[in-house]
Amino acid sequence: MERRKFVSQLSLMGIGGMAFAGLSSIGGCGSPSNQQAEEHTDEQQAERKLGIALVGLGGYAGGQLAPALQETDHCYLAGIVTGTPSKIDKWRRDYDIPEGNVYNYENFDTIADNPDIDIVYVVLPNAMHTEYTIRALQAGKHVICEKPMAVTVEDCDRMIAAAKEAGKLLSIGYRLHFEPHNIEMMRFGQEKRMGAIKHIIADNGMGSTEGWRLDKALAGGGPLMDVGIYCVQAARYTLGTEPVAVTAKEGPKTDPEMFKEVEESLTWEMEFPDGVTAVCKSSYSENMNLLRAEAEHGWAKLEPAFPYSGIQGETSDGEMDCEGVNQQAIQMDDFAKAIKENRPTPVPGEMGRQDVKILQAIYQAMESGERVVV
Ligand code: NDP
Repeated sequence: MERRKFVSQLSLMGIGGMAFAGLSSIGGCGSPSNQQAEEHTDEQQAERKLGIALVGLGGYAGGQLAPALQETDHCYLAGIVTGTPSKIDKWRRDYDIPEGNVYNYENFDTIADNPDIDIVYVVLPNAMHTEYTIRALQAGKHVICEKPMAVTVEDCDRMIAAAKEAGKLLSIGYRLHFEPHNIEMMRFGQEKRMGAIKHIIADNGMGSTEGWRLDKALAGGGPLMDVGIYCVQAARYTLGTEPVAVTAKEGPKTDPEMFKEVEESLTWEMEFPDGVTAVCKSSYSENMNLLRAEAEHGWAKLEPAFPYSGIQGETSDGEMDCEGVNQQAIQMDDFAKAIKENRPTPVPGEMGRQDVKILQAIYQAMESGERVVV
């Protein structure tokens, strides 16, 4: 009930419009005109739950997205794409997935012929996002792609172009745009509730990591790509403006063998218009989770700011009175509704591209020691 209430509040607020003053959330996202839409009447289409196929059955798909899809009203878990046959039986049993809706990376393109699948959700290592997003779009499916959208801006451009070409929606898995405390931060900053914001602090770090996240070819970089991206996002959506330049400094490597390909930690500063600054940190060896905004007449803070649940908020006026929600369920339902309603998604490919552009500028600043214009 709470979640339903919140979703309807979101649509009343027109949340899609408030995220970024400087960015269009429309460009690049074509209007949904898939075959299934033509096969159903408008009314049936509005009632029907859209089928989602998850690509890559790892920690996030299994731990968060599949359970969230048990709580969605407008979409459901219809299919899986995996390179690990031993995962299939359990997934099929747990989620009642028909045999015909199970794919691997080789036969993935034949998903084009499956009317049960409306949306492909790419949950693979970062450097694989581009290929599978483009293949899904070319198969005539709408796509949600996890963050970071890709490892280069050029790849983001190819993904956006593929969505335009296919006339399908492309969204990035920015769950916090559907999370009440983070939405409150957007309002605090963008509506200047305590005056204009002068300074932002955002930190996001994990105490450890392993696997592909340490492999530059698959991850595109270290904690900046994985968790630092939340700080970049948070500064952008709290301010509603875009950074003009960045400086950055890599932290010391306490384990040079483990971190031989990617940074272990990084601090960076983003300069926004009117002298506003954001100082941020990301790390794979320190737990951090903070967003703080200093305004002319007060402050607001989330700590922790970015987890799946348990976000706490406070302003200089007192505690934030916000509900906890299932972020992923709301995010996926909003995308399904965007398709049904033939409207843009509030978290489109263009938003993901801008983050990747900023992340690349931060790495350039880190490597050169120079201030880099975004
Ligand atoms: P995992 O390593 O847990 O899972 C990735 C899955 O991708 C694997 O289980 C595997 O699935 C598949 N895969 C295919 N090729 C490879 C390969 N060469 N190496 C490793 N895995 C491969 O990663 P996560 O689930 O944690 O992350 C996946 C994506 O989701 C990332 O882009 C990450 O940034 C994003 N993410 C987003 C979060 C959010 O809050 N929005 C939170 C966590 C992650 P299979 O065996 O089925 O083929």
